[in-house]
Amino acid sequence: MATENVIIIGSGPSAYTAAIYTSRANLKPLILEGEADSSKRVDIPGGQLMITTDVENYPGFPKGVEGPELMHLMRQQAERFGTRIETGWIDSVDFSKRPFTLKSGDRTYSAGAVIIATGAGAKFLGIPSEKALMNKGVSACATCDGALPPFRNKKLIVVGGGDTALEEANFLTRFASKVAIVHRRNELRCSKIMGDKGRKNPKIEFIWNSVIEEILDVKAGKVTGVRLKNLLTQDTSVVDAAGVFIAIGHQPNTAFLNGALEMEGPGYIKVTKGTYTSVEGVFAAGDCVDHVYRQAITAAGMGCMAAIDAERWLETQGH
Ligand code: NAP
Repeated sequence: MATENVIIIGSGPSAYTAAIYTSRANLKPLILEGEADSSKRVDIPGGQLMITTDVENYPGFPKGVEGPELMHLMRQQAERFGTRIETGWIDSVDFSKRPFTLKSGDRTYSAGAVIIATGAGAKFLGIPSEKALMNKGVSACATCDGALPPFRNKKLIVVGGGDTALEEANFLTRFASKVAIVHRRNELRCSKIMGDKGRKNPKIEFIWNSVIEEILDVKAGKVTGVRLKNLLTQDTSVVDAAGVFIAIGHQPNTAFLNGALEMEGPGYIKVTKGTYTSVEGVFAAGDCVDHVYRQAITAAGMGCMAAIDAERWLETQGH
């Protein structure tokens, strides 16, 4: 088995930027990207931007750019300089000795340096009815599922108060008759511009200080509504809806590391000195590290940092 100079795990802005930089440094990087699985919302080649509509805040695109188009361009740019891309989940890693080894099914990879840029995946409410009705009216991806026939001209619910919730709700109003945003507080977490857009959209209504106790109707095998609890009054009520879109944030895709690196918070990789992890030669960038900024542009910036850190570190190893 040949040892790669650098393996980059992931396929979002962070991974592609790391690939552009390491390939231009003649390191001939290999990207290992996840497989398509829209039910997981983000663990797909191209990452979260593949299921985003308009990206209006990525510099260089004054008229905005579609998320998938942006990812396609980054991927092309990485390939232009010689990046190779293979598909497959990494099941396990061995960072205890060098070269490092990574396993994906029956394939084993060996690398002098590794850049982890696996991003983050959707969080779920964790209630049994959510699981039972997943893909039967419950979704974590409006852009994947919003246009499906069962949701057209129907009332839909979006849970959450961040940018994702507002973006999903706005997108869903293209198809739905009405979208209710259920938020556990009476103040949105999202950026002001997204909040204003939501408030101005006549198809969007807000249900404040409320959480979903149960998604109905598991017996019927499809979503017919939700039972809500008002957190201020403890009153419960039933709201009819044909679909429930969960948009309550993300958690880093780092379970495959299984203790190989030092972590912080709920599953974020701990980095010091830029993108250095607790194992020398392993670097990490983007949403699997960053619990503060979590933007496409910051992920891309960290990907660049990880590439430069890896290149310089490899040099110190006599590469
Ligand atoms: P987020 O900012 O963490 O917001 C998550 C929302 O879900 C919060 O309002 C939170 O409520 C709520 N929530 C969390 N757990 C919940 C639970 N168990 N039950 C009910 N509600 C729950 O996540 P995000 O919206 O996915 O955004 C993540 C990052 O991506 C942010 O930095 C955001 O700016 C960025 N982003 C940017 C864009 C854009 O620029 N167009 C689009 C999408 C995402 P509380 O407010 O009470 O905590």
